[in-house]
Amino acid sequence: MKKNIILMGPPGAGKGTLAKQLISLGMTHISTGDMFREEISNQTELGKLAASYINAGHLVPDEVTIKMLQNRLAKPDCENGFLLDGFPRTLAQAEALEGMSKEINRPIETVISLTCDEEELIKRISGRRVCKVCGAPYHIVNMKPKQEGICDKCGGELYQRKDDNVESLKVRLQHYTVDTAPLLSFYSKKGLIVEFNSLVDSGTLFDEVKKFLLS
Ligand code: AMP
Repeated sequence: MKKNIILMGPPGAGKGTLAKQLISLGMTHISTGDMFREEISNQTELGKLAASYINAGHLVPDEVTIKMLQNRLAKPDCENGFLLDGFPRTLAQAEALEGMSKEINRPIETVISLTCDEEELIKRISGRRVCKVCGAPYHIVNMKPKQEGICDKCGGELYQRKDDNVESLKVRLQHYTVDTAPLLSFYSKKGLIVEFNSLVDSGTLFDEVKKFLLS
């Protein structure tokens, strides 16, 4: 099975949902967005700094993000393979990751790129709700919980992320186009990119990606 994977795609493409499904294959899920949100909820200095960027839709500076990821990759639970969700987002991060993964002898084996049209991304993000406790994703139209505002899995309260509004989303999409999309050619030159259209339902997408990773 392929290990040490990067999940790429614009906001709303379904990276988080897919990553949570792929955990069942035994990989450690590392979401830099989740890590920042935890720092914010713990009101740490890093959290305060990150919130000022995240809420406006901007990227957290490279040096801060790279250091956080470097500490995370050094943890023993990454030894059996990791799934990076939301990192790298800039060329500087991708280059730093090259160095880090060599150092710990865990090279990136594949980059899964999720594609989706912009109209659908806006619909998905503006209706997205997330469980405060377990992070499970929902949608007010496409993936409703059984009881409004309550997580089916753990009973936690559902909330709307502060950066899931039309203004921040425009900025996030712009960052994706300018800063992150160039990484597709960076990894394509290395022969690592595999593209999946995420306009299918999440179960179908998971089956397709799982089949590829196990092949
Ligand atoms: P996500 O949960 O992946 O959508 O990330 C939410 C927000 O966290 C992003 O819009 C950025 O502001 C910030 N963020 C997450 N990962 C990174 C990264 N690799 N580099 C810079 N900022 C990041």
